[in-house]
Amino acid sequence: MRQIDLHTHSTASDGTCTPAEIAALAARQGLAAVALTDHDTVLGYPALQEAAAILGLETVPGIEISTKYGGAVHILGYYIDPHSPELEPVLNWVVRDRDERNEKMCALMAADGLPVSYAEMKRRFGEVIGRPHFADILVELGLASSVRDAFDRYVEKGQRYYVPRTILPIERAIEIIRLSGGVPVLAHPFQYKRDDAGLRELIEYCMSQGLRGMECRYSGYSPEQSAYLEALAEEYSLVKTGGSDFHGSNKPQIALGTGIMDNLSVPYEWLVQLKELAGK
Ligand code: AMP
Ligand code: FE
Ligand code: FE
Ligand code: ZN
Repeated sequence: MRQIDLHTHSTASDGTCTPAEIAALAARQGLAAVALTDHDTVLGYPALQEAAAILGLETVPGIEISTKYGGAVHILGYYIDPHSPELEPVLNWVVRDRDERNEKMCALMAADGLPVSYAEMKRRFGEVIGRPHFADILVELGLASSVRDAFDRYVEKGQRYYVPRTILPIERAIEIIRLSGGVPVLAHPFQYKRDDAGLRELIEYCMSQGLRGMECRYSGYSPEQSAYLEALAEEYSLVKTGGSDFHGSNKPQIALGTGIMDNLSVPYEWLVQLKELAGK
């Protein structure tokens, strides 16, 4: 059966592969389609599309927005119009807010004598800079042994260089995805540490705001976990999606298309239903 990957991050956000490299990897894996779901930006999509066209690979425009509902919740949006007047100003605002937070993190590091410059980070990493880029720098400077270690000791909440950023309310994230023609999907539902009742509460609230889908297959989720999510999606009439959350070497254990130790496979049939819902 033809397979797809609907959750990937490129150098346009905190991945380490360019959109063109993602297209090449997806083609090499024999995937039928790949979605780009960078955090807070759609800037990588044209390059993915261009590279994929040559390879005969189908692409899906997407985004992943960090929101808050109780704790952190991530919402994916598929088939958003990147030039929508609803989407663009909000994303610009999110990136400016990131810049302000990031400048503060740089200042904390500089105060400890670390040679970091935000202007240089922007040149090197691009428009959307997040804590994974700071983690990269801490590894390079020899202060941490891995991105994971850098998070644990320096940039995770409560650690020395952590500065919070403003997070969009979940209602607003779902709304801007819908208003820009996209399909809002609940990302990696087990990441929120909710029990069955808690997860149902989250799903029902999101659906009251316009949620249309749920990520049922995800790197690291067991077949039992995926089956549980698929049954929930069917019960709530949500479209099923799945993807690896590929970040290149920032999450080295995750492979495009196949997840962690080959545990992931997402059928093309799911994309057919997503497209139908998006009117594509
Ligand atoms: P930011 O949005 O800039 O505050 O950074 C959040 C991003 O950092 C998330 O989307 C993850 O990709 C990544 N992240 C968060 N916690 C960790 C962790 N413990 N190890 C590696 N990456 C993480
Ligand atoms: Fe990320
Ligand atoms: Fe996420
Ligand atoms: Zn992601």
